Amino acid sequence: MKSYTGGIVEQSLDALLEDDSFLPDLQGETRNKAFTSLVSILSTPNHIHKSFLRISLENGKVIRVPAFRVQHNDTLGPYKGGIRFHESVNEEEVINLASLMTLKNALYEVPFGGGKGGVVINPREFEIKELHSICKKYVQYFSDILGTDKDIPAPDVGTGDREMDWMMAEYKSIHPGMPYRGSFTGKSVVNGGSLGRREATGKGVYFTFRYLFHDFIQEHKQWLTNSQNRFAQTALTHAGRPLAIAVQGFGNVGSIAALEAYNCDRLQSKVVAVSDRNVTLYNSEGLDIPELVKFITVKNGDLPTTEEELAQNSIKAVIYDRDKILSLNVDALFLAALEDQIHEENVEDVKAQIIVEGANSPVTVEADETLSKRGVIIVPDILANAGGVIVSYLEWLQGRETQFYSEEQVFKLQLDKMKTTLDRILPQFFADPFPLRQNCYIHAVMKLSTVLYRQGKLY
Ligand code: GLU
Repeated sequence: MKSYTGGIVEQSLDALLEDDSFLPDLQGETRNKAFTSLVSILSTPNHIHKSFLRISLENGKVIRVPAFRVQHNDTLGPYKGGIRFHESVNEEEVINLASLMTLKNALYEVPFGGGKGGVVINPREFEIKELHSICKKYVQYFSDILGTDKDIPAPDVGTGDREMDWMMAEYKSIHPGMPYRGSFTGKSVVNGGSLGRREATGKGVYFTFRYLFHDFIQEHKQWLTNSQNRFAQTALTHAGRPLAIAVQGFGNVGSIAALEAYNCDRLQSKVVAVSDRNVTLYNSEGLDIPELVKFITVKNGDLPTTEEELAQNSIKAVIYDRDKILSLNVDALFLAALEDQIHEENVEDVKAQIIVEGANSPVTVEADETLSKRGVIIVPDILANAGGVIVSYLEWLQGRETQFYSEEQVFKLQLDKMKTTLDRILPQFFADPFPLRQNCYIHAVMKLSTVLYRQGKLY
């Protein structure tokens, strides 16, 4: 995965120097020097922790698996970010994902820094007991650097509330008497997790899409019509008509985003395609998403792969191969699987004019450039998928207060925060020549630079 941090340094930060509100107290050489410090702070992580976890398997064998925790930046608060269990995890990827967390939290003004963890395993290949032992070992190896006010992990690809529950329990037994409820977020509700945390990312993905392409555009139609901005033109072409949506990935993020789209009468959009690691399912009339969600709940997370399975569950769909989802003739494509899904080799096949990043970094830097030149609006990860970390923050607060919010309260707080941020960013996006990603980076880095300057760290 090519670093987006590199992208920020090249483009967004340069744009900042032109902006009068960037470090307004500094001038000339001093401002340039502060800018150089900022670039070096953001393009390097504060700490990279790595280890090999020694795991005894059920068959008696002992293996050692690489594990990482990257603490990118803590300017705004304790390091925060998920732990990923995936066989392709590597150090560079974890660094990039940690830096995205720094930017995501800064963009949404969530008082956390950025971190990320990873373990190089395919969790599907391990027994429950072995996974439990991997979780415990992870916490044992990194126990000194984790904690409620230091570094707070959460679920990511391949992990969920079960893993967070195990990890928090291990943290608690290593640090008796220390506060522990806020040491991990994304826990199960019975174990101090927040209502609504599981759905938060997917709900936020759909909310961002709907707000941008419906509510915001309806409200600002006149102004957008007069704008020469190429993205304003793309947005207007899609405003006020039902859109065909394809969703790549039918896990926690994709399935919830698809369900939200299915249930949203206001937009009358249709989810015409969904995919997972095995197949793409397509129906131009719209798929029965609740039925598919029911199916994956019973069938170990996988979508139906045969005509027989579809018929048995009265689901009408055509079965295509897994990657077909990316080249379908749809208005909007939600990418909710893994990183680097749209790249130089397949970017020309993409027909959607709207791309929403439910996963982190699903579009490579090169593909991003090609699509943006075509006027495709890419709603970037740090804007679209922040629902998870926003509700993690609410979980962390509830853990400190030992007072719990209802599901309605959680969604209201989450969506209000997302709306406030979108209202701050969208007017500038439709006025500037920059793609939305760059616009979000500029806002995030502006926030970070102001705080760094106030803390006396930019000189
Ligand atoms: N893994 C999620 C993300 O990438 C959530 C992180 C968190 O809640 O800390 O945003």
